[in-house]
Amino acid sequence: MSVYEKPAPRINPDNARFWESAHEGVLRLPRCGDCATWHWPPGPVCPNCFSERIGWEAAQGHGTVSTWTVVHQDWFPAFKADIPYAVAQIELAEGVRLTADIVDYPADTLGVGLPVEVVFDSVTETLTLPRFRPLRG
Ligand code: ZN
Repeated sequence: MSVYEKPAPRINPDNARFWESAHEGVLRLPRCGDCATWHWPPGPVCPNCFSERIGWEAAQGHGTVSTWTVVHQDWFPAFKADIPYAVAQIELAEGVRLTADIVDYPADTLGVGLPVEVVFDSVTETLTLPRFRPLRG
């Protein structure tokens, strides 16, 4: 099974804007129109103040690694061809955490606090995945 045959992320009315934006090469996240809090995952109301005035705004696209792991072949035999790969929680500059792949990192540099920036990889004609790589000056 190649990366192209993997099931696509679940796109639903709450997160459709995120995936549309990623396809355009923009990391767009929900932000409350009343209290200005960014939040993730997306939902119909602000988890901070329960406002329904949720907008989608372009995020800066960088942050730091807050947790990470390398996925091993024994965990997911069906995806053997694509493994090992690293997946991390990224604490974005906006204060929310997003889980994503880490790419282009030298083996000894992956760690908590590593500054990273978003890159967009087109995996099918309609699906683009945001991934992160070490921030380059
Ligand atoms: Zn709010």
